[in-house]
Amino acid sequence: MGIAGKIIGVIMTGTGMVLLTLGMDPNIGILSWGYFIIGLFMMSLGMALITGGKSQQVKKPKPPTITEIRCDNTECTFKELRDFERGDYILKPLDVSCPRCGSTMTIQGIYIVRDESEEKIKI
Ligand SMILES: [Zn+2]
Repeated sequence: MGIAGKIIGVIMTGTGMVLLTLGMDPNIGILSWGYFIIGLFMMSLGMALITGGKSQQVKKPKPPTITEIRCDNTECTFKELRDFERGDYILKPLDVSCPRCGSTMTIQGIYIVRDESEEKIKI
């Protein structure tokens, strides 16, 4: 949806608001609820046009993948979660050393985090 769609959306929302206001006027009588319904319809359509482009972009991001890194020292419980990077695999030894004890660190798990429910699937 380009800028043209957004302009149409703004115009439709504006027209819808005017119709809605007209519909709220009890002096119009039998026509008022018709204005109200059309106004409501146009507003929601206009809003959909305005926000349409945005919501598509929000839905796009790929499911986040998390890499779990643990310290090799069995007495150290240091664990770090970071974003998955290309080339990560389970039990891959890393160049980084544990910030707590200085031991080597290994990837212990790779997870796909689904939505905000934090549902974890071990690969
Ligand atoms: Zn450690």
